[in-house]
Amino acid sequence: MRRVPFSVFPLLLAFVFLVPATLEAQNQAAPSVPANAPYKNARLGPEQRVADLLSRMTVEEKATMLAGSGWMESAAIERLGIPSIKMADGPMGVRSWAGSSAVTNLPGGPLKVQSTSFPAGVTMAATWDTELVTREGQAIAQEVKALGRDMILGPTVNINRVPLWGRNFEGYGEDPYLAARLGVAYIKGVQGEGVIPSVKHFDANNEEFERHRIDAHIDARTLHEIYLPAFKAAVKEAGVWTVMSAYNKLNGTYCAENAPLLTGILKGEFGFKGFVISDWGSTYSTAPTVNAGMDLEMPGGAPARAMIASPRSQLSGNSGTWLEADKVLAAVKAGQISPATLDDNVGRILRVIFVSGLFDHAHTAGGEVDSPEQRAVARQGATEGIVLLKNAASLLPLDAAKIHSIAVIGPNAAVARTGGGGSSLVRPKYAIAPLDGIRERAQGVQVSYALGVGMEGENPAEDTAEARAKALKEAADAAAQADVAVVVVGRYSRLEAESFDVKTMDLPAGQDALIEAVEKANPRTVVVLNTGDPVTMTRWIDKTPALVEMWYGGQEGGHALASVLFGDANPSGKLPVSLPRRWEDSPAAANYPGENLKVNYAEGIYVGYRYFDSKNVEPLFPFGFGLSYTTFAYSGLTVTPGKTAGKQPVEVSLKVKNTGPRAGAEVVELYVHDGHAKIDRPVRELKGFQRVELKAGETRAVKFTLDRAALSYWSPEKQGWVAEPGRFEIQVGASSRDIRLRAPLELTR
Ligand code: BGC
Repeated sequence: MRRVPFSVFPLLLAFVFLVPATLEAQNQAAPSVPANAPYKNARLGPEQRVADLLSRMTVEEKATMLAGSGWMESAAIERLGIPSIKMADGPMGVRSWAGSSAVTNLPGGPLKVQSTSFPAGVTMAATWDTELVTREGQAIAQEVKALGRDMILGPTVNINRVPLWGRNFEGYGEDPYLAARLGVAYIKGVQGEGVIPSVKHFDANNEEFERHRIDAHIDARTLHEIYLPAFKAAVKEAGVWTVMSAYNKLNGTYCAENAPLLTGILKGEFGFKGFVISDWGSTYSTAPTVNAGMDLEMPGGAPARAMIASPRSQLSGNSGTWLEADKVLAAVKAGQISPATLDDNVGRILRVIFVSGLFDHAHTAGGEVDSPEQRAVARQGATEGIVLLKNAASLLPLDAAKIHSIAVIGPNAAVARTGGGGSSLVRPKYAIAPLDGIRERAQGVQVSYALGVGMEGENPAEDTAEARAKALKEAADAAAQADVAVVVVGRYSRLEAESFDVKTMDLPAGQDALIEAVEKANPRTVVVLNTGDPVTMTRWIDKTPALVEMWYGGQEGGHALASVLFGDANPSGKLPVSLPRRWEDSPAAANYPGENLKVNYAEGIYVGYRYFDSKNVEPLFPFGFGLSYTTFAYSGLTVTPGKTAGKQPVEVSLKVKNTGPRAGAEVVELYVHDGHAKIDRPVRELKGFQRVELKAGETRAVKFTLDRAALSYWSPEKQGWVAEPGRFEIQVGASSRDIRLRAPLELTR
């Protein structure tokens, strides 16, 4: 049983003297709460508890709950035992909640929370391993609880629309189906632990350029087919407890006060029952925001006021403090917010507090953080996420028994670049750099190291003409003297981060030249990319024998890389995003970043491979692509029944055989082709995938089920999903451009 703490009485007294007369009357009218009040009874259902608790709350108490009480805390109502929800960023581990990332990410920043640094979202997406992502969600949630918090601000499911978005590394790539599957997996893992996730950022936060002012103009079909599905799945399949709205405007209105989006689509169409939380400083009004369906404004209290007053916020367009209690109360009093709306908002927050178990069991700090199990999940993600893009003459895997020396080179070789920058950057207890991982694994092999080129903008001493020439020469010499050279290039958390976009698709200054110099010095060169975004590779790719995309691997990235380079792990990652040859080839290049603070998503549904494959533009590496040290053969595709009225699910099955010399995993991708629709449709759309582990020589059956939704497009005419009768083609393959099997499927009605 929970008692009303004594400390509440002075507070109540203060309230009586401070509040205006009408409110005072209501406050005095608030009856005391019996110990056996139904809302306190954990055996009752959440709806009954919410209704009972709402009936006992004063209007002031309700109004208080619409804004946070601190940087990462919602308001508690002690009189009633309503706890504060204590949050932390997310999504790749638990970040310090003591302030904005601009402050807490500084080396001397306050409250040094150390937790497991999991791989970036894009890395996890490259695993295509939903079961692993669920375990990641569980592991993160366990750390959330161990650190005494209740909520993790993730997953990020925004679509990679342009290669330059500063937060591409956080998301799950370019495909809405893949992002939906992984988002659902993460949320299930988190919620299964009784921790509250927040799927973000709703919606169309696809660039950081002017993120507080930019207005994304997106037609309804594109919204429903590309930018909403991951959120829809989060609500309908994972029953997500909270959704974070985006900073930007969508079709002319800020997302935080966008009624068609929050009330129409999210709460209406999708049936969302949890609460909408604002992004940190994304609100611009009181009544319109509350009425649009925003339930909780963050941050709140003194930290919010300090944030809004800061020159940085003023400049960027950050805004907030609109849902502070006095402003909400004034709007209620003026009739601008109805009591029913206020109840709905507060009821949603309460529902989550009950459903998550937070009301009945506070999370007390003290469990394990960075346990061997949590590390193992991080390492598995970093390993499975590595994508082998090129392996001419089977340069990889390296045989430690045969090579005598390796030169490990590059600005990302000796430093562990665990993730992109901003609110997702976690401070781990340790982090394994590629050089550490290789040294540890390559016992008996001589490992040399050369910087090659300083990371752009990181250390002025490395940036003089003289220092650059010296570093380049040392790298070429080291490469020339070694049996194999491994060049690790890429960006880091200050070049690829939240709050600004990446300036160019090109690698940072001097890195292309470094690759060229090393390849010239040693033809047995492996290039490793340590990036979250696609990069330009035209200067060197044709001459590069082996290319590995390791993305940002979190604290275990270096171990994961070494295990793939030496063949302890067989690479199985596949690209969750197409890699264009040049920036100009990317579908939204002509409509980015927009003009006059408006960005028109004129490419519509033709995002990523939907564009490359439909418009016959050759990407450098296609969506879904990734090599292995073994080979796989696909056979025996059947679609049952081959003719359907679309009422029952259709079963698709095939066999996959590991035809090579070693065990490995293959991600089997299923695409649907609709050539008969009245409306233009992409040449193929991903509607299923499975990661299959196979021993050498092993064959396995792979099965998928397809429902009507998998055949449907969103019709502007019907304002809904439509599957047109006719002949579809089911395509199964190893990438969007490597379709191995095809079979017809006829929809009769
Ligand atoms: C980010 C969110 C993050 C929040 C709290 C915002 O700037 O966009 O993703 O959860 O800050 O740190």
